[in-house]
Amino acid sequence: MRWSRLLIPTLRDDPAEAEIASHRLMLRAGLIRRVTAGIYEWLPLGRRAVAKVEAIVREEMNRKGGLEVGLPIVQPAELWRETGRWAEYGEEMWRLKDRHGREYCLGPTHEEIITDLVRATVSSYRQLPLLLYQIQNKYRDEIRPRFGVMRAREFVMKDAYSFDVDAEGLERSYQAMDDAYRRIFSRCGLVFRAVAADPGAIGGSGTHEFMALADYGEALIVYCDACGYAANVEKATSRLAPPVEEAPRPLEKRPTPGLRTIAQLAEAEGIPPERQIKILFYWAIYEGRDPQLVAALVRGDRELNEVKLKNATGALEVRMASREEVLQVAGAPTGSAGPVGLQGVPVLADEEVMALRNTACGANEEGYHYFNVNPGRDFTPDRVTDLRLVGPGDSCPDCGAPMASARGIEVGQIFKLWTKYSEALGCTFKDADGRERPMVMGCYGIGVTRTVAAVIEQHHDEKGIIWPMSVAPFHAVVVPVNYNEPDQRQAAERIYGQLVEAGVEAVLDDRDERPGVKFNDADLIGFPLRVTVGPRGLAEGKVEIVDRATGQADPVPVEHAAAEVA
Ligand code: ATP
Ligand code: MG
Ligand code: MG
Ligand code: MG
Repeated sequence: MRWSRLLIPTLRDDPAEAEIASHRLMLRAGLIRRVTAGIYEWLPLGRRAVAKVEAIVREEMNRKGGLEVGLPIVQPAELWRETGRWAEYGEEMWRLKDRHGREYCLGPTHEEIITDLVRATVSSYRQLPLLLYQIQNKYRDEIRPRFGVMRAREFVMKDAYSFDVDAEGLERSYQAMDDAYRRIFSRCGLVFRAVAADPGAIGGSGTHEFMALADYGEALIVYCDACGYAANVEKATSRLAPPVEEAPRPLEKRPTPGLRTIAQLAEAEGIPPERQIKILFYWAIYEGRDPQLVAALVRGDRELNEVKLKNATGALEVRMASREEVLQVAGAPTGSAGPVGLQGVPVLADEEVMALRNTACGANEEGYHYFNVNPGRDFTPDRVTDLRLVGPGDSCPDCGAPMASARGIEVGQIFKLWTKYSEALGCTFKDADGRERPMVMGCYGIGVTRTVAAVIEQHHDEKGIIWPMSVAPFHAVVVPVNYNEPDQRQAAERIYGQLVEAGVEAVLDDRDERPGVKFNDADLIGFPLRVTVGPRGLAEGKVEIVDRATGQADPVPVEHAAAEVA
């Protein structure tokens, strides 16, 4: 590619809106351009870097037997109503209506859609396991888009979903994805840590986030070098119940020690009794516990005016309810689904539920706050027995050794979904004995565009980006000090031609610019290798190969230059 034919609108000065290096450099190097808050255009260089990450992701997903699909961005509200998430998801979901008034969202994630696809196309254990993935734009109306493409409202995500017959199958799929993620982020040149990220996460089972370490990462993590424990402190971590044999079923009767802990915390916080009851209800429902059990917990003389209950299909609904109705539930025979169809009452905003839960957990503004929790997914039912929180300065919950802390950028996350979606949507299969059973699911996300930003956050200096070869938009740039000087032009053209021939993705800087400008641009854009063709070198039949990362400059004979680079 000739520089003069490329669209690289580099900026000389730091854009005022950019707070962190990756954002600043992506704008300055002409990788992205902001259209409106959290919405960006990918210019040719940026798009090439995204494509590199996508290719790595695709290779590693395919290596694990993943099948690429293309799912719609526009998703009908009905599917989300089936799981209760149309009401639960809150304001981050980008909603729209068609001309007939029917409701849709722009997919923030695809559990509903994929489960709908699989329930329609898979019916036997013989077709399982199944791993489907896609690489596609996602839409989240982030309350505070920031750091450029790092927290955007439109971004590229790889999302994968596994379908298995049982818990062991899920464990295998989960480990395969864990392995794939490690390969992907290593290949992208990232220094990262996988950390436990949800109330059930410990000892390799549960939910993990992949954190690219960076001083300006939004997440705070703690880790123990003695035993390998690592967790995101924004999430509660907890003691696990003994490993579950079977995937948990949402409406099964279960013990409720987690609730008692919440009740104690709420009491200690001095929260008034009526609010405590609400908190218990919300907590319990979010934990997927049987409403009857919760109702039994609060049975008594206290006033209760809001409940969130499962309707007949198992979907969650938030309703105002009279005390009588609640007591009726409390007294109802175990296994009944609770009051259904209470009409004409306002639905509580998701934020309020979140706030209540945060209060219940002792969360506060300074730390230990629940961020970006995806209800029903980040919270796996049946796994919490004793809720607690860890933070910097705490000792390791596993071995008691002092823990270190670091900041990280969440570039990916893997989840065990168990049967939450397959039960809600009726995604079942016939097992070998002819019994109908819900599939056991996992889901696995990678922020592709955020990964590009994270790579830059980790690989830059004061002059600009230092691309790792694997994700660099171009591998090399050939810079004649003066393109108009015939000897230099000829040598540069020849080397460039040989590079292209050898399959090296190269740019020839054919601009009529001062050498300083060209060198600065090359450093800013961060080509891993630069071939400088200058008059002094040429006089001795040599050019210079400069390594962007180390700054080392090696003189090589003109005729060997392309081979050296390749
Ligand atoms: P965060 O905690 O940063 O808001 P999340 O936990 O909400 O992220 P997931 O639902 O786990 O995100 O989505 C999978 C991946 O998608 C994340 O690990 C992250 O890399 C990426 N991602 C999520 N939100 C954004 C965003 N607003 N902009 C860019 N990438 C994002
Ligand atoms: Mg997160
Ligand atoms: Mg989020
Ligand atoms: Mg996440």
